Formats: sequence, C-alpha cells, structure tokens
Amino acid sequence: MNPQVSLECRDINLSYGTTPVLRGVSLKVEPGEFFALLGPSGSGKSTLLRLIAGFNRHQSGALLIGGQDVSAVPPHARNVGMVFQNYALWPHMNVWDNVAFGLVERRESRDAIRRKVGAALELVGLQQYAQRRPGQLSGGQQQRVALARTIVIEPKLLLLDEPLSNLDKQLRVQMRDELKSLQRKLGLTTLFVTHDQEEAMTTADRMAVLDKGVLQQVGAAADLYDRPVNRFVAGFVGTAN
Ligand code: ADP
Ligand code: MG
Repeated sequence: MNPQVSLECRDINLSYGTTPVLRGVSLKVEPGEFFALLGPSGSGKSTLLRLIAGFNRHQSGALLIGGQDVSAVPPHARNVGMVFQNYALWPHMNVWDNVAFGLVERRESRDAIRRKVGAALELVGLQQYAQRRPGQLSGGQQQRVALARTIVIEPKLLLLDEPLSNLDKQLRVQMRDELKSLQRKLGLTTLFVTHDQEEAMTTADRMAVLDKGVLQQVGAAADLYDRPVNRFVAGFVGTAN
C-alpha cells in the first residue's frame, strides 16, 4: 500500500483572465479519507481538481500534498492520479496498452509492466478484456479501464471528476460501490467530485459544498444534511437530483 498523504488547500484563489473562479478555497483531506466535493455545474469543481493535478495555476494561496507545497512541482512529478468524466481512453489501443501507457512512458521494465498491469486489471475485474478496444466495452467497463489506468501508476492521491455521470442509474450505483471498496482496499486519499448529492452522501467520509467558487460548508454528510449553514446547502444537499 502507498503511504497515505493528506491534501490541503489554503486560501486558494484562481481566476481565468479577470473572472474569479475559485475564491478563498480552504480544505483539508485527511490521509486515506474519501472526501466528496459537491457543487452545481460551473461552480469550479473541475478547476480545483486540475489545479491539484497541476494543470491549472492558482494566483494566490497554497497547495500542499503530504504537507509539502507542490505549487512549483510539475504534474507528472506530483504522483496524482485523475479519472475524467469522459474516461479519455485511447480508442486505437486495446485495454492492456491503455493501462500500460503511463508505465511505458516512465520506461519501467517489461516485467514490472506485465506484473502491474495484470494486477490492476485483476483489481477492477477486467482480466478477460485485455485485448479489447475501448469501443468494444460497455460504459461501466470503460470506466473500470480508466480506473485501472489511474491506479496502475500507484498515485498518492486519487482525483475523480464526475466519473459516474455518463453511466445509467443502475450501473452508477454499482460502480459507486465498486469505487468505494477499491478506495478502501488501496487506502488512497481520494477527492471525489460530483454534482449528485446522493452519490456524495453514500460514499464520502466527509464532504464539502462549492457554489460559485466559494466553499459553503465542510463536514460529515449527516452534518450538512441536518445542520446546513445556509439556504444553498440546505437546498442542494436536501434535494434529490
Ligand atoms: P464545474 O466542474 O463545477 O462544472 P468548472 O471548473 O469546469 O466547473 O468551471 C468553473 C467556471 O470556470 C465556469 O464558469 C467555466 O465556464 C469557467 N471555465 C472553466 N474552464 C475555463 C477556461 N479554461 N477558461 C475560461 N473559463 C473557464
Ligand atoms: Mg466539471
């Protein structure tokens, strides 16, 4: 298992041009915690994840992984794994090569690649599908490939950007449970972004609600539900959508 790390955002501000998108965001995810970030479309969730992964730069504030300020560390050196809403798999490569890609880029040995890709595919239950291309898989299977490709690089931190939103309702519930048990098994510090309050409530140890780039409330799911600090949180957390 990877050593567990914390993730901390301290008073982070980010603007695209002159438009502020993240405003004074402060958040701490504890080592091994499954933390959900909930907010409506356009509230800045993906922007925050890209910032943590190193693809966006904040104008002020600090970003710490494992207690170290990583603001100046490039994405590939941050050891952060990210799963995107659209999976972003290579359509021309089979499942095995999609999962192996990051290891090949790192010039790991053939033996190490064989071992790690095999283990990752087993973890998500896709050993039988190694030779298929993404287009020959169901949505749920493609999602598992995306997960395998991310965990195979042994990240310290797992970022999930609405990974279930392209799946139909029944599969979404099944994948949600799989995701949760995989996270438990790996003990990975996880930041899970969703606009679905039920998804957040059922998976997360704690959660935060973001609106227009401002964190409204952080706490255990039950706290936000029972004691929302404002009307926005009450409406968003309390309403099934
Ligand atoms: P969410 O993931 O919560 O839907 P985003 O982080 O994608 O929200 O977007 C937050 C805001 O920033 C939106 O108003 C969006 O239009 C804007 N935005 C996102 N990416 C860019 C970009 N590259 N350039 C300018 N504005 C952007
Ligand atoms: Mg988004």
